[in-house]
Amino acid sequence: MKKKEFNIQNLVRKNIKQMKPYSSARDEFTEASSEMTFLDANENPFQNGVNRYPDPKQQSVKELLSGLKGLPMDQILLGNGSDEVLDLIFRAFCEPKEDNVILLPPTYGMYSVLANLNNIEIKEVLLSDSFDVKVKETLEIVTKNSKIIFLCSPNNPSGNSFSADKIQKIAEEFNGLVVIDEAYIDFSSQESWLEKLNEYPNLIITQTLSKAFGLAGIRLGVCYASKEIIEVLNRIKPPYNVNELTQQRAKERLLKYEDVQSEIAIILSERSNLENELKEVNFISKIYPSDANFILVKVDDANKRYNQLIEKGIVIRNRTTQALCENTLRLTVGTITENKELIKVFKEI
Ligand SMILES: *Cc1c(COP(=O)(O)O)cnc(C)c1O
Repeated sequence: MKKKEFNIQNLVRKNIKQMKPYSSARDEFTEASSEMTFLDANENPFQNGVNRYPDPKQQSVKELLSGLKGLPMDQILLGNGSDEVLDLIFRAFCEPKEDNVILLPPTYGMYSVLANLNNIEIKEVLLSDSFDVKVKETLEIVTKNSKIIFLCSPNNPSGNSFSADKIQKIAEEFNGLVVIDEAYIDFSSQESWLEKLNEYPNLIITQTLSKAFGLAGIRLGVCYASKEIIEVLNRIKPPYNVNELTQQRAKERLLKYEDVQSEIAIILSERSNLENELKEVNFISKIYPSDANFILVKVDDANKRYNQLIEKGIVIRNRTTQALCENTLRLTVGTITENKELIKVFKEI
């Protein structure tokens, strides 16, 4: 391991280092027990289940995640969706109008939206034809102001995971932060990088309850990183960024992880069925290998096929304008009935 000299403090923006975090009522008095009388936060005292502010540290959700993932709670940060987590990472480490981040298209659209929002320059290196990381080219465009490389694996919209050796090389050679977005990891045959987190002080892994956990509506994103990185992010996060209802629903679901697993098993078996059925659709020329809960396919005319599906009441994602994705459509794996309907319509049109 070469990165002995890596010090996260060198990457933190100056104003963030200097700022004093907001101290909430719940932060200042932590030994909260339900027998105490709470007159500190200007809440309405009449009980309705959510009249109190939520736990700003989300301890009980983190405890469950910690048990599930085998990482200590001080290496976990929660956000209002991964989108908030990613925004916090930009705000903590990227100096507007000075720093840049490296993106590997075609990839998730939020990275560039957040870069633009935060006024951070974007440097891009296309993925290879098989949608894998081009390591040499990626490391070559690094400048002294490159703060983050975003690796989305399994990648949206292509669906594949990047080769482990390529991710490892980037993590070892790049002296900034490497964010691995594992939104689809629960559908993947690859190991999560969580196992390796403690070998790479510059690694940040993001996951979400929006996909495999079936909780897109509650907005809960998770960030795993070194204790030092999590400390920085905790300083700048809005104090009550994860609301009480979200915390409750997340806990219920985490306590029933077997249910999540059985849904994942069905989705994976449906993915494989879909892959077989799609082979028989005459205008589909390529089915890209998927490690996620969606499948990217190449068709004769993406706009035409997209509109035909809409007319039949099925909404998919047209990815034709994305780099390397000309005439591709992205299909989310649905229920058994929904997938049957999709195939039926595909064969009719
Ligand atoms: C869906 C998705 C997410 C999830 O974002 P949330 O804000 O947690 O819902 C994150 N990354 C990628 C690549 C995604 O496709």
